Amino acid sequence: MNTENNLLAIGIDAAESTLVREMIEHDQMPALRALLSGGKWLEVRSPSTIGSGAVWPTFLTGEEPTSHGIYSEWKWLPETMSLRRYEGHHLTPFWKALADRGVSVGVFDVPFAPPVGVTNGFEVCEWWAHDSTAAGLRVGPEMIRRLVTEAPAHPLSANRFFTSTPENSSNLQELADACSEGARLRGALIQRLIDEIKPQVAVVVFPELHHAGHQLWHTVAPGHSFYNGLAANGASFLRDVYRAVDQQIGKLIDSVGNTTTVMVFALHGMRPALGFPAFLGPLLCEKGFSALTTWRSQTWTRRALSLFAATKRHAPAPLKKLYYSVTPVTATYKLARPTMLPAYDWRKTRAFSLPTDQYGWIRVNLIGRESQGIVSPGEYEKLCTELAQMLLSLTSETGEPLVEEVRRTAADATSVGVNPLPDLVVHWRDAAFSSALKIKGSKVPAEMVGKKSTGQHTTPGFCIYRGNGDPGGVVDAKDLYRLIASF
Ligand SMILES: [Zn+2]
Repeated sequence: MNTENNLLAIGIDAAESTLVREMIEHDQMPALRALLSGGKWLEVRSPSTIGSGAVWPTFLTGEEPTSHGIYSEWKWLPETMSLRRYEGHHLTPFWKALADRGVSVGVFDVPFAPPVGVTNGFEVCEWWAHDSTAAGLRVGPEMIRRLVTEAPAHPLSANRFFTSTPENSSNLQELADACSEGARLRGALIQRLIDEIKPQVAVVVFPELHHAGHQLWHTVAPGHSFYNGLAANGASFLRDVYRAVDQQIGKLIDSVGNTTTVMVFALHGMRPALGFPAFLGPLLCEKGFSALTTWRSQTWTRRALSLFAATKRHAPAPLKKLYYSVTPVTATYKLARPTMLPAYDWRKTRAFSLPTDQYGWIRVNLIGRESQGIVSPGEYEKLCTELAQMLLSLTSETGEPLVEEVRRTAADATSVGVNPLPDLVVHWRDAAFSSALKIKGSKVPAEMVGKKSTGQHTTPGFCIYRGNGDPGGVVDAKDLYRLIASF
């Protein structure tokens, strides 16, 4: 970057704002400390209260989730009553308009962003991604391809699968080291691309803190009640990764001129968790909102599809088949997630849960929107109220409430009919994560899934801004592009 009025935006995905502030104050992130001393701290509001999958599409399109429709790696298709893995082809990133205006643009690993065909600049998608799509690595224009393909591979992209478990500290050390080394290789590659191309605007993302945050959060909050002594010998592996990313940020900032506007941002953060509750689907069946068909009543095509999904999950297909015929509702759900839905009987399903990795998601089977809808628009409001009341009154056997709140995603009654999101988002209380949980008045077992995940997303995000603009104190994720586009 050797011309004036350039901009460098560095996303540090899912970096937790409170931890970053604490580490800055203790001089453990010197690059961010220096940036903040000449810049400004902003709070970033984002739709992570709907789902973590909503935040990057919101940033890159500048649209609300009800417009871009992405909330997860899986998307509900009401026309076929099925799920499809997200590929992002329909999203238009804001930098396309900049590129069309002749601005040279460099983009590196913005999660969920499709390539836009940049010719003056560079764009690299999924060199290594925490949220990978089916599309894989894409690099353009042709002249930079070699720079990327000849660079050392990210340690996490190697064939080796990191099977970390929260209590095995040598595994955790290995994971933290791989994330730190990945951040170093990423920083070096981004630096090469910037030196070579000198884009006027660069938007580059480090996803290592996101990946590490999910599996290492207990190493920064060992005393939390969820973890029950899981302390990894007191070692703070996650802080090491934060420091490694800070070092790379420092190098990138040092290499651009003082007139360059710099933004370092995260759209959401992390907090303690231990897996997530998976009982919502079975509960909706038990309470009569959803109904499943039996294996025997499915058509041959549906059976084949079910087996295909089972094979993709590397489970023995005959075993799966057996499970479908004999296991209770909860087991069917656990096996089904996340590649497929269990086989619903849509004629008897008024509302159903969508596969998730955090909040509970409920979609109403609405006539005129779902191809097999049975709930009339006139009944929608009453049904949502009924669902919310049922959920808010859920308690454990010992009387602890399980649900914090039930959020609606549609802005108003008229937009319900075109809402691409789950209609209701269920935010759980801590009691819902307890491994000893028994739900009062229900036979559904309250088992957690994904227990190697000790961190889960939270709001808000943050942005450290150094430049001549006046960004105010709080900015919406969908408006961050304005700060970038007005560089
Ligand atoms: Zn995540």
